[in-house]
Order: sequence, then C-alpha cells, then structure tokens
Amino acid sequence: MLPAASLLLDWYDRHRRALPWREATHDPYRIWLSEVMLQQTTVAAVEPRWRRFLARFPDIAALAKAPWADVAEEWAGLGYYARARNLHACAQAVAARGGFPDTEAGLRELPGIGAYTAAAVAAIAFGRQVVPLDGNVERVTARLAAIEEPLPGARPILAALAQQWMEQPAARARPGDFVQALFDLGATVCTPRNPACAICPWRQGCEGSRTGLAPTLPRKAAKKARPLKRGVHFLLLDGEGRILLRRRPPKGLLGGMLELPGTPWRETPWTEPEIPPFAPLPGLDWRALEGEAKHGFTHFELHMALRVASAPPGMAAEGEWLGLDAARAALPGTMQKLLDLAVAEKALPA
Ligand code: SF4
Repeated sequence: MLPAASLLLDWYDRHRRALPWREATHDPYRIWLSEVMLQQTTVAAVEPRWRRFLARFPDIAALAKAPWADVAEEWAGLGYYARARNLHACAQAVAARGGFPDTEAGLRELPGIGAYTAAAVAAIAFGRQVVPLDGNVERVTARLAAIEEPLPGARPILAALAQQWMEQPAARARPGDFVQALFDLGATVCTPRNPACAICPWRQGCEGSRTGLAPTLPRKAAKKARPLKRGVHFLLLDGEGRILLRRRPPKGLLGGMLELPGTPWRETPWTEPEIPPFAPLPGLDWRALEGEAKHGFTHFELHMALRVASAPPGMAAEGEWLGLDAARAALPGTMQKLLDLAVAEKALPA
C-alpha cells in the first residue's frame, strides 16, 4: 500500500524541526550550504557553523570571491576538506553563470554537487518533484516496504520507491516540504536503533513495523576493514608559545589546509632512520611523546606520533607561526587531535 503523502505532511506541519535554514526555504545558497555541511555531520554541530559561515560569506558572490585560505579557515573542524574546496569551486561557477540552475540536471553539472545534493536543492529551493536519497530516506523506505536486500545494492530500488511516493498529488503540491518531512521522520521517529512506530504517521501499512523487521532494516553489506596508516608529526614551539604550521598542497586529503609538519602517511610503520629530519630545522632537540593521535578517515584509519621541540629565538623557518588558540581555530580536526595529545602529555598548556 502506498504510504499517504498527506498523512506525512500533516505530521510535518505539527512536528517539523525548527532548523535555521528552513527560515529561508527558497534561498538556494543557504539550502545548498546546509546540505553540504550536513553530509556526515550532525544538525547540532552544523547549526552554529552554518550561521557563522553566512555571517562571513553572506551570499554566493562573497563566497566566490573569497580567498581559499579564508574558506579553509572557516571550514576548519568540519572535516571532509574536499567538500570545502568543491564548495568554493561551485560558488565560483554559480557566480560566473549568474545564479544556481533550477533543475536537478543543471545542479548536477556544478562542481562537487552529487546526486543527493542536486535533488535536495532542486526540491527544497526550486520545488522540483524529486526525492533525494539520504540515510534517513533510505531507512524509512526500506522499513516501509520491508526491503531486505542490503545497501548499497538496494539503493536503486529504494530510490524508485521513494520517487513513487512523490508522485501523489499532496506531495507534488509541496515537494520541498515532503522531502524535509521524510528527513524529519527518519531523524526523529524512524530512528536507526529504535523506530517509534507507535507515534509514526505512516504506521498503518508499514510492512517493516507489521513484520517486526523494522529495527533490523536497512541491511548493510559487510564492510571491508579499513587499512591503518601511520605518520610522524612535529610540534615546534617558539619562546612566545606559538606553533609552527605549514599549508598542505592544494590537491589531495586535507588539501590546502594547515597542518603540523610531518611525514607522509603510509601503511608501513616508520622506523627511526627513515623519519626525515625536520628539513628546515636541523639540530633541534626533538622529544617523542608517548601515545598517538588517532583519526578515522572514510578509507583508512590514521595513527600519528608526535615530536616536540623548542625553537631558538629568532629562528627562521618556512611556515606560519600561530598562537595556540589561533592554531586550534585554523587546524582541521585531524590536526587538532595532535594538539590534544600534546596537552595530555603536558607538552602544551591545557
Ligand atoms: Fe519507521 Fe515504524 Fe514508521 Fe515504519 S511505522 S516508518 S518502521 S517508525
């Protein structure tokens, strides 16, 4: 049985989450920014950062003409830096063409906009009748129809089912709201571990609820173990408590972001003779800290060792010297974990 779009929309009108980007429902810039930030990050973490980003780059033109270093600084801590680079490139493409395209297909042609973001912006900003398939929509769909085929293989089936619901007149009349209602249902009622079927507007006719399979859906194909990579990083402090940072190359992981200088990351552990002396600064008395900073990337796990030294007064070095607070604000989350390690090992003040 087709779940009635009108029931979900009635529920949404009463229970929708008050999210700041919904105050500007038809502004594609604000909606696009929220969707990019929300990928892999929680609503609670995104809200203040979204406001701060807009305060600094209030419209697409401001973002397009901002230097990359400013965008990277504003993105620091949000992770997935390729996204920030794509965000910047996309803003420049949109500014050059005089505004966002208003169709899913047109949005797909912009740098860094994938199937999900194109459909979300098309539906919410431009009222196009398309359903973006995020984790919430996948889960709700798999449960309603009791689809036991595992993800990611089941995705085309789930996409087709969700799109079928959008074909109902009530959904076609309010496509942006229908899509956001699906997001909200998944985020607040049909939650991953404990679906609250008793209060769900779609309980009647939910096959996953009727059969008791719902909490086990959607199924997921077994994940391959992620490889472990290792690196050694260097924390150099000057007499004023400032830290030497350098900027990573523009391409690749954390591209264009600041970092504590270090070795490349690789699967083979670094042996002592292999660790290159911190090239511009020979002869310093480096102390190896106990423990490691650990960070999980999508495709690998990273363990980083840390060495600490004090710089002699007036020492010239390639890079940027930043105070601890400024360094924390500018460094990506991966590198902030090295600062946490240094604090835990009393190499930096708490
Ligand atoms: Fe999810 Fe339960 Fe609602 Fe079905 S009835 S959509 S399983 S919350």
